Amino acid sequence: MAGLMTQSAEHAIVVGASLGGLCAARVLSDVFDRVTIFERDELPDGPANRPAVPQGRHVHLLMARGAQEFESLFPGLLDDMVAAGVPILENRPDCIHFGAAGHVLGTQHRLQNEFTAYVPSRPHLEWQIRRRVLDIANVTLVGEGVDEPVYDGRRVTGVTVAGSTVDADLVVDATGRGTRLPVWLEQWGFARPPEDTVNVGIGYATHQVRIPEGLFAEKVVVAGASREQPVGLGMLYYEDGTWGLTTFGIAKVEPPKDFDGMCALADEILPTHVSSALRQGEPIGDVAFHKYPTSRWRRYDKLDRFPDGIMPFGDAVASFNPTFGQGMTMTSLQAGHLQRALREPGESLGLTFAKATAKTTWPVWTMNAIGDLVLHRAEGSMPWWYRPVGSLFDQFLGAAETDPVLAEWFLRRFSLLDNLYMVPSAKLVGRTVRHNMRLWAAERRGRTRSRRSPGTVASAPATSA
Ligand SMILES: Cc1cc2nc3c(=O)[nH]c(=O)nc-3n(C[C@H](O)[C@H](O)[C@H](O)COP(=O)(O)OP(=O)(O)OC[C@H]3O[C@@H](n4cnc5c(N)ncnc54)[C@H](O)[C@@H]3O)c2cc1C
Repeated sequence: MAGLMTQSAEHAIVVGASLGGLCAARVLSDVFDRVTIFERDELPDGPANRPAVPQGRHVHLLMARGAQEFESLFPGLLDDMVAAGVPILENRPDCIHFGAAGHVLGTQHRLQNEFTAYVPSRPHLEWQIRRRVLDIANVTLVGEGVDEPVYDGRRVTGVTVAGSTVDADLVVDATGRGTRLPVWLEQWGFARPPEDTVNVGIGYATHQVRIPEGLFAEKVVVAGASREQPVGLGMLYYEDGTWGLTTFGIAKVEPPKDFDGMCALADEILPTHVSSALRQGEPIGDVAFHKYPTSRWRRYDKLDRFPDGIMPFGDAVASFNPTFGQGMTMTSLQAGHLQRALREPGESLGLTFAKATAKTTWPVWTMNAIGDLVLHRAEGSMPWWYRPVGSLFDQFLGAAETDPVLAEWFLRRFSLLDNLYMVPSAKLVGRTVRHNMRLWAAERRGRTRSRRSPGTVASAPATSA
């Protein structure tokens, strides 16, 4: 392995024991004799929130693809989560209420290709994965923060921890979106990675809520924001029988921040049977807040030179708009890239990994940016083609409200299954156009009729699968 080939693959260090670091450690444990994870936060014995991962208190969607990828890294994980009470979500109409960019998807028909999703809380998922990683014989966790990597003028040779040096053949930076790697690269005489950013201006407020059992069947309730409605809401049913209730605002619009305000928003944007059930709920503990100003993709793939002996991983590479629920799944995909890059590192392990990661990041990042900049009110420069693509996609989502085939296609792609590109085939585009024309014609007929006999309302035809 270039960079490693010349030395033995003896010791790898992972900085950060959150989901990114744990996935990296799992992959590295197959190749290195020893893997040491350094984590500066105190790690709880069980599934619990911790200060250095403040986002853990807010609802986290685990995409179906992410569940599959985590299972392939940690066989038995999904069964154990279900045994621990984690809800399974089949894409059945009664399990999910899903709204995106102002459109409520027509999931009221049974979908053709069912897939299963899992709804663990963020602390539960991390704990399940952490205990598996700590069971790997050659992995050690050290409860210390890393000061900085050691660069010898040629390559990174380890890290300093509390002033002492710990040698390593490879250091993986999984310190999250606050990574200092770009600064260190500059200090060592390399270029900083260019950054793609979108100023999404997101604010989160989350309450844990106990809702009496049996009031409604949905396990996942998502009402995304739109240009007209810059606040949204997510409700997830967790393994301990409580609900995570998150409200969020985009483009610096503040979300409701107390339970009454959250219920009032639910009254506006959720089906009545869900919002009235929520009103019977009992909030637990305090509200948690989180600001997420900017989605950020550090383009290590665009660098010509990169030092051997170090690589960034997880959110340290790309941090996605959290309201789309993709970060953990994109991290799980990076684990696959790391596995392959370790097998075939090419000229530079770091650049090989960065380029592979860029291939899966680009389609997801770009579609998010189109959604944020065109369908939401985020700020940032955009190429000319974002606007027409965003408008077409809005048409698609409009049709998916009443066409279950389009709704299913969207839900699968949104779950990052099948293909990461959110680009409908020509057949689906044709179907969208025909469907919208039928809706438009029905609406016109209705308008004409209601002009003739006031009181009649047009009803939209639902396209059958
Ligand atoms: C509000 C919010 C909501 C989100 N919702 C979703 C969602 O619905 N679905 C989804 O898939 N993703 C979501 N995400 C993203 C998801 O949380 C991350 O993708 C995931 O946590 C992986 O991040 P990571 O491990 O790379 O970094 P982090 O989780 O940020 O962890 C970094 C770790 O590094 C440690 N660390 C930092 N510096 C040092 C040091 N010097 N020495 C030792 N340790 C150090 C920290 O203590 C921490 O444990 C959300 C994010 C936010 C902010």
